[in-house]
Amino acid sequence: MKRIVILGAGESGAGAAILAQKQGFDVFVSDFSEIKPEYKIMLNNHTIRWEEKRHTEELILNADEVIKSPGIPDKAPIIQKLKGKNIPVISEIEFAGRYTDAKMICITGSNGKTTTTMLTYHILKNAGLNVGLAGNVGQSLALQVATQSYDYYVVELSSFQLDGMHEFKADIAVLLNITPDHLDRYDYKFQNYIDSKFRITQNQTEKDAFIYWENDPVIEAELAKRNINSTLYPFAIQRGEKTKAFVEKEELIIQILKSLFTMPTSELALKGIHNTYNSMAAGLTASILDVKKENIRASLSDFKGVEHRLEYVATIRNVKFINDSKATNVNSCWYALNSMETPVVLILGGLDKGNDYAEIEELVHNKVRALIFLGKDNTPLHAFFDKKGKHIVDAQSMEDAVKAAYELALDGDTVLLAPACASFDLFENYEDRGKQFKKNVREL
Ligand code: ADP
Repeated sequence: MKRIVILGAGESGAGAAILAQKQGFDVFVSDFSEIKPEYKIMLNNHTIRWEEKRHTEELILNADEVIKSPGIPDKAPIIQKLKGKNIPVISEIEFAGRYTDAKMICITGSNGKTTTTMLTYHILKNAGLNVGLAGNVGQSLALQVATQSYDYYVVELSSFQLDGMHEFKADIAVLLNITPDHLDRYDYKFQNYIDSKFRITQNQTEKDAFIYWENDPVIEAELAKRNINSTLYPFAIQRGEKTKAFVEKEELIIQILKSLFTMPTSELALKGIHNTYNSMAAGLTASILDVKKENIRASLSDFKGVEHRLEYVATIRNVKFINDSKATNVNSCWYALNSMETPVVLILGGLDKGNDYAEIEELVHNKVRALIFLGKDNTPLHAFFDKKGKHIVDAQSMEDAVKAAYELALDGDTVLLAPACASFDLFENYEDRGKQFKKNVREL
């Protein structure tokens, strides 16, 4: 019997274990940390053997194949040992893809993955397609392949998941954008990260679709170097020769061979240029799948958005509060600020990943009334912004930040939480940060 070892028992690892067992493999799960109770229960219910807080080499290095959690870096000693023995290491998505004929719609990019994945799923599901949602959001693909029978999956893919994918093919691949991120996992070489993102197109033929942002300089340069066989569906704000989705006279237009779709941009549920891109990518996907125009239009306009992504919280005495806690890098903060239509009191800060705030300097200059720095160590923010003539307040808790922001906001302003930093200095994660923001706003 072939032995499959699964490293990491989170959502993807537990799902992979259940699928592997269903397929008749000898399965063992090993996690170097403590396994969450819910996943222990899942594994026990299926009588799958597991260990935690260690990797027992005798039980791992005898595997025929290993499924690795995307959280484990290649540098980890156990992965190095497996590679040394030429034991294949793959990702959960690669494994799950072997056991389903469902059409795969796969979405990646540095920013906007979750939003576009949820929006695409919303359109397809409302149009009546038998579709599942997987990847970084919701249940793992493997668990669903083991227990459901969907015709389509919308899958959010991070670069780490893509790294363990070889034979897998996306029927529709979406690449939203590429900006430097996670370079610590890519030997500090941007090209390695780019290569990882471009795996989204691997194994595609002209029968498959590749949807991407045409004006992304990184994607553009890469396309010039590569031989991509897929049928191309570029999107952009301004129409170019090959553009398949664009904006003209305040209408979102999707033009592919089969159809012409139009919709006023004012009716899009998600605001901001970045979200227009996300809407284009989702709308293109649905058009390629022949979803009726009225269904696409309805879903693009009634989508409720995703929590912590430019999420409207409340308006208090004519001051609007918006939670974009997921803006954990400077680029997403730029898009958040850019989409604001009133003067802004901006709450930013947290764990600075070596940020260059020059990217938002002009927007801060033009749109921001006051800055609230919310972080354990605000030195990098002070170093950049102190001499820029803005009113600045330091805060060490969300309660203080929200109160200070409310005091500084004038009638008609917006208080925006778009931190441009990770949250782990003062919060558990970005969800905790966003929830605390909303709670404190509601208690004003
Ligand atoms: P991801 O899953 O890739 O992290 P999210 O949809 O969770 O993406 O959004 C992350 C952050 O990036 C949010 O602050 C959001 O407002 C912003 N964002 C969303 N779409 C885009 C885009 N296409 N380009 C740049 N920033 C975006």
